[in-house]
Amino acid sequence: MQNVTVVGAGLAGTRAAEALRREGFTGTITLLGEEVHTPYDRPPLSKQFLAGTWDRNRISLRLEVEELGLDLRLGRRAERLDLPDRKLVLDGGEELPFEGLVIATGARPRTFPGTQPQGVFVLRTLDDAVALKAALEAKPRVVVIGGGFIGSEVAATCKALDVDVTIVEALHLPLLRVLGPELGEICADLHRRHGVELRLGHGVADLVGEKRVEGVELTDGTVVPADVVVVGIGVTPNTEWLEGCGLDINNGVVLDRTCAAEGADGVVAAGDVARWYNTLFAREMRVEHWTNASEQADHAVDTLLKGREHAEEFAPIPYFWSDQYDTKIQMVGVPGDQVVIADGSVDQHKFVAVYGHEGRTVGAIGFSLPRKLMQYRQLIAERAPFPPEPAG
Ligand code: FAD
Repeated sequence: MQNVTVVGAGLAGTRAAEALRREGFTGTITLLGEEVHTPYDRPPLSKQFLAGTWDRNRISLRLEVEELGLDLRLGRRAERLDLPDRKLVLDGGEELPFEGLVIATGARPRTFPGTQPQGVFVLRTLDDAVALKAALEAKPRVVVIGGGFIGSEVAATCKALDVDVTIVEALHLPLLRVLGPELGEICADLHRRHGVELRLGHGVADLVGEKRVEGVELTDGTVVPADVVVVGIGVTPNTEWLEGCGLDINNGVVLDRTCAAEGADGVVAAGDVARWYNTLFAREMRVEHWTNASEQADHAVDTLLKGREHAEEFAPIPYFWSDQYDTKIQMVGVPGDQVVIADGSVDQHKFVAVYGHEGRTVGAIGFSLPRKLMQYRQLIAERAPFPPEPAG
């Protein structure tokens, strides 16, 4: 293979470019990114960067473009993939031939249909974060729509900035679908203890305000006044440019167990855009977290260079963290339908809860107990019986 093109210069894309060189690939590497910014890390956008404690420099992904000999093309978008001719069609019509392809186009926030009044924000990119940060300086009344991780972190940062914030969540608890009712209740308590108002179990009927947003109308008819609204209602994988190209696209790029794309040779994918079957948990996954983007990029490159018939399965134990207020939430594995508190004190928001499914330990979540939490990793890897013995 003489050249590899990586589409998407986020975490997975930059890690893939680095991994190619690390694994001894000497051909041309083209890294194509739609954003004009040099690659940066997203997790601080809702935390330290939004709070103003870290600057742009601190969130850079230090990609050694010259050392790695990369053909880095920023502000360029892949519009179409032509698999039979093995070329990409870029914005403006330029054609870019490739031998190997890494798809790392991530995901973008879901939004409400129609034109949004001023004062309505999403948070995915550096530009989004710069705009939201500027809007928070006037100490506006903020409504966060969606009590997921991004919404929860934005609310926590608002409180750190002494900005009044309300979370509107359609379900009756934050993070209910992701973490289940027991942990959802604990997350709700965390917000309330920090003075965040929660409007749970209410969908959004409309955004109020013509030119500028003035409030959020809930499905029960009440209006929550707002000067700034942050919409955090999940993401959609960036796969439109792949429609009709012959790859299997289904809520992400569908991969085999080695991270090779179904429907083509010499094409792999990684990060938020990638869906694959994780044999360790016997389920399909598309993971929207930092560690997976990094690890999967390494694995996908390995598969690309070896060829899928010689490649290994990608079967990691997923991991993520979320910083909210002074609490570090971390999770290993996946949620299950049973849960027990295994260590620590829920009341003090310092504990580990363990998830089980069909009598096996499948995941663990920790609130500010990082070392204890990691002790459950091995039990998850071993599919230990649930509930497990408390970790030492
Ligand atoms: P992305 O980072 O989305 O990068 C994809 C890139 O591809 C983008 O730059 C996009 O512009 C570009 N692109 C898209 N389409 C095209 C195209 N057609 N042509 C060229 N380029 C294209 N995870 C955690 O585990 N813990 C956290 O605390 C945490 N906090 C987060 C906070 C925020 C505000 C956000 C947004 C995410 C957070 N995450 C966190 C998730 C984590 O950042 C993502 O999982 C990770 O960034 C995914 O990397 P990626 O490279 O797959 O996708």
